[in-house]
Amino acid sequence: MMADQDAMELVRGSVVTHRRRCGKPNCRCADGQALHESTVLSYSEGGRSRLLTLPADQVAAVRAATERYRVRRQRLEADGQAGLETLVARFAPGGRR
Ligand SMILES: [Zn+2]
Repeated sequence: MMADQDAMELVRGSVVTHRRRCGKPNCRCADGQALHESTVLSYSEGGRSRLLTLPADQVAAVRAATERYRVRRQRLEADGQAGLETLVARFAPGGRR
């Protein structure tokens, strides 16, 4: 259990809710109102988009982990950009200072 929680610190992907009909004519979803909902993690792997159906009791934790990932990635990109700009300013010919 502890290992699972550690693994959920950061998750790459987006949590999205799908609503659909199952196709059974006498199901509650047949009227197009009470559709079946499933919450999935959408992520890409090897250039392909993939979906992972999430257990209901995991949705909040996974969503929070994807948000932490987004924040951390934005910070990483900003730090990398700042470092790049510093390097360019210092060493580019005709230097921007
Ligand atoms: Zn149905």
